Amino acid sequence: MVKLYVVIPCYNEEAVLEETASRLKQKFTQLSDRHRITDDSRIVFVDDGSRDRTWELIEQFHAQNDLFMGVKLSRNRGHQNALLAGLYSVRNMADAVVSMDADLQDDIDALDQFLDEFSKGAEVVYGVRSSRKKDSFFKKFSAEGFYRLMNFMGADIVFNHADYRLLSNRALNGLFEFKEVNLFLRGIVPMIGYQSSKVYYERSERFAGESKYPLKKMLAFAFEGITSLTIKPIRLIISLGCMMLLVSVGMLVYFLVQHALGHTVAGWTSLIVSIWAIGALQLISIGVIGEYVGKVYLETKERPRFLIEQFLKDETAQEREDIQGQVMSEKMRKG
Ligand code: UDP
Ligand code: MG
Repeated sequence: MVKLYVVIPCYNEEAVLEETASRLKQKFTQLSDRHRITDDSRIVFVDDGSRDRTWELIEQFHAQNDLFMGVKLSRNRGHQNALLAGLYSVRNMADAVVSMDADLQDDIDALDQFLDEFSKGAEVVYGVRSSRKKDSFFKKFSAEGFYRLMNFMGADIVFNHADYRLLSNRALNGLFEFKEVNLFLRGIVPMIGYQSSKVYYERSERFAGESKYPLKKMLAFAFEGITSLTIKPIRLIISLGCMMLLVSVGMLVYFLVQHALGHTVAGWTSLIVSIWAIGALQLISIGVIGEYVGKVYLETKERPRFLIEQFLKDETAQEREDIQGQVMSEKMRKG
């Protein structure tokens, strides 16, 4: 049996929250009847500074039933931060934590499969939507474009996976080793490592209320993701500069030939070649400076260099380590 926590960020979700709570409660009863989850499993709502009755509702759920827990943020901090706050609040409380949206777009019945994968040993399970039949053409186009752009820019994210996922407690603790402030969850979770798997589910329409992710927010989100994961845009500047340099060399040859044939006005050849060559050199130089800035940027994130999955050792190994430790401190004292 698994002690399961479900974390749900909510921003102005009064229209759906009651339905979400009652459906999840049903699901939890069903799962614990089938002995898949323990009785002390919980549903955690995170109120992301809503301006409507969301928090009142959460308080009400909590008062009526221990199954529900609530976390209230001091103000609206956006979906990613709200989710992170929820995950952080419940770390080390459960065996596994599932994050999902409040609007019932993520198929609750996929929880069974999540638990299956978890019991097979997966520490990270990605919920991947199997189709976008129910999306409007625009949403489908923009969302798939988002994943393509992200991958092209070097951000390694799972295609068509949003934030419906299961993390084992160990993976969750791994996640919190990433100290960066701009934590882009979809990009960071694959970096945690450990055994992972995918669960496919049909994503339905929002149950009620409207999307809190208009195009503007989505573009900002993509930009945020790219700039917080990779410095590939800087590399692109360098490549562009190199390409321009090649072009300028080609043009030099071409214009020299034209010059020799007398097809040009005096001064034009040198002028046009310099424009291209200087432009190219500037781009390359900016790119090189950018590389260093990028290094500084990545260093300031203080990401964990590794997370250890297993360490096979016996007690003697433990002892020897202690002796080594003593020797070390001995040396330090002398030196
Ligand atoms: N959300 C949040 N803070 C925000 C915006 C959204 O906590 O500032 C939550 C929202 O309540 C929902 C989830 O993030 O549970 C996903 O938002 P939404 O369904 O509006 O996005 P979409 O599914 O349209 O991409
Ligand atoms: Mg939604």
